[in-house]
Amino acid sequence: MKIAMMTRSPNLFSHKRMKEAAEERGHELHMINTLRCSVNIASRRPEIYYDGERLPKYDAVIPRIGASITYYGLAVLRQFEMQGVFPVNESVAIGRSRDKLRSMQLLARDGIGLPVTTFAHDPKKSEEVVNLAGGAPLVIKLIEGTQGIGVVLADTNRSAKSVIEAFRGAGVNILVQEFIKEAGGTDIRAFVIGGKVVAAMQRSGAEGEFRSNLHRGGSAKPIKVSPEERSTAIRAARAMGLNVCGVDMLRSNHGPVVMEVNSSPGLEGVEKATGKDIAGMIIEFIERKGREGKTRTKGRG
Ligand code: ADP
Repeated sequence: MKIAMMTRSPNLFSHKRMKEAAEERGHELHMINTLRCSVNIASRRPEIYYDGERLPKYDAVIPRIGASITYYGLAVLRQFEMQGVFPVNESVAIGRSRDKLRSMQLLARDGIGLPVTTFAHDPKKSEEVVNLAGGAPLVIKLIEGTQGIGVVLADTNRSAKSVIEAFRGAGVNILVQEFIKEAGGTDIRAFVIGGKVVAAMQRSGAEGEFRSNLHRGGSAKPIKVSPEERSTAIRAARAMGLNVCGVDMLRSNHGPVVMEVNSSPGLEGVEKATGKDIAGMIIEFIERKGREGKTRTKGRG
């Protein structure tokens, strides 16, 4: 097969691994820098140009669109979809997962366990938001944050209110969430491919850190998830419409709660922790499903 990967970082571990896995299986994989693509929106003839040349027709596309270029990246991906190229994750599904409020609302609609989560626009509503979330301790998160940056733990209602007021006063969008203390600074990343949990790891924060992000010095080990955690991860992936994703969950006293569904999950942490060939599994998924014109939405909302 001829596979395109949309990425600006061809040397990233995850991307090199998928290229290797594709080539080992006799496919061709081209890394395409999303920002160097130009799009020709001609009626019934969707084209993509790359450095001035028209891109050949691919069988499948692996979107690895960085959060900072979501808008343009999704436009290029839609163009691939309109050509009938099979996307590992569809543009519409990635769009849902990039909007934290929308994703939580979609997960809640499907009855998936979530931490109690509130948000409000008006900084004057800080007291109401604190009360709705159940009072301190609370976690306050920047909606646009990644890698644990902008995730704050407020121990008292007073500090929660000041943090909310400061962020909202600066015009920053936030979520206010029940603090799942019993998770003890660990979370679970379940890797889902084609409706199955293919690997799972437990990430633990560095000493004294409630955030378990590997980028913040956390460590990872393989873990066997419970049947409830497995079905929560699968349902979360389905609610978002993602074929390949990382579902981050916390173990709470009231069962697994989903924090986030990541549409471009990294492979390094999970492959190293579990010893599994996740890159190979993604390529196998493409072999099974990557047929022309099989995209469900073709960019339709
Ligand atoms: P990011 O998307 O920036 O990684 P997350 O929402 O995943 O931010 O939060 C980072 C880490 O903080 C999580 O992996 C988890 O360990 C911890 N954390 C986040 N929300 C909560 C919460 N409500 N209760 C307990 N710990 C949390």
